Amino acid sequence: MAGRVTRGKRDALLVRDCFRAGGYVFAKKAGEIAQENGISRIARLASNENPYPPSPNAVRQGCDALREANRYPDECMEQLLRCLRETYGSYHFVSGVGMDGVIETLIRILVNPGDGVAIATPTFSFYGLAARAQSAEIRPLQRDEDYSVDPGIFIDAAGDAKISFLCSPNNPTGTVTPPEIIEEILAGIEGILFLDNAYIEFCDTDYLPLMNRHDNLVIGRTMSKAYALAGARVGYAFVPAWIVPFYQRASTPFTLNSASAQAAIGALKDREFMNRYVTHVRTWRERVARECGFPVTPSGANFIMVDVAPWTGDAMVRELAKRGILVRSCASFPGLPDHYIRVSIGAEWENELFLKEIQAIREANSGLSQ
Ligand code: PMP
Repeated sequence: MAGRVTRGKRDALLVRDCFRAGGYVFAKKAGEIAQENGISRIARLASNENPYPPSPNAVRQGCDALREANRYPDECMEQLLRCLRETYGSYHFVSGVGMDGVIETLIRILVNPGDGVAIATPTFSFYGLAARAQSAEIRPLQRDEDYSVDPGIFIDAAGDAKISFLCSPNNPTGTVTPPEIIEEILAGIEGILFLDNAYIEFCDTDYLPLMNRHDNLVIGRTMSKAYALAGARVGYAFVPAWIVPFYQRASTPFTLNSASAQAAIGALKDREFMNRYVTHVRTWRERVARECGFPVTPSGANFIMVDVAPWTGDAMVRELAKRGILVRSCASFPGLPDHYIRVSIGAEWENELFLKEIQAIREANSGLSQ
């Protein structure tokens, strides 16, 4: 084969079609924006990160684990799983490199090429990317105008899909789906419902009782948001018992590195630390929504979605970036009109700067269509 391929054309011959379309959209790096605009202190409100460092407990345990990094970690992540059981009760858990890692492994277990994967849209993009990599038949399922999910429509569209994705609180809208709707869906579908709870700590809804009543529910969680460990890449999921042995076969031999696993344990044991941040988010979420001067979709997450019409999302992102504030345009979320931005709740100074600048933009340009 090598002899027949023109040098430089090897990708055309070897790379699968599913990786030729666009991939994950990362928020534009703060450094680039800073450089373009000559600003050194950037408000990073584009990636729904926790603006504060993790619990000192997490840092200490993670660093201690590095002392023994000459050894492979426990392949079953037994200590982390035990800590999860101590935290949440006697459920079955799996872990992964971020919730993204858990999603990818589950899709690998369940989906053959051509199998259906339903996705309540607009939402987080990685479900679709991971399903596409497995050559799934992707079935986007449009949410209602207020971004709620109609269980009848969901069940009809999901039908025999191997796995369906529903995010609550939903990224990027912030919408929380009531547990009764989730229960109705679980009773009506054949496949797995992956309920993405990346932002669950920021709202009052509890889906865990559903785990005991349904063996087709997986609840995905992450340490990246409320627990401030985005860089450690730790995700986990509540799963029905029958999935566990298959998960072990399908995942990479060591699902997590030992430093990240120990940092996660340290963070999970310091709930008070996490709760202080959650209180901060709730207080500021309400204030930013009230004072930003644009309509905001009710949110149960650590971000809000703002309707910036007559600006487009992209135009508003550029305006704010020039003033040192990084937010995410929702233009890349299929199923959403182009006049939304998603704004993370940041540290106090970031939220204040955002409010000041968005109000200034609005006043300076009132009446202008962008
Ligand atoms: N689900 C949702 C809804 C998210 O917004 C994100 C990350 N932004 C993830 C999953 C992935 O989380 P992790 O960092 O654990 O991979």
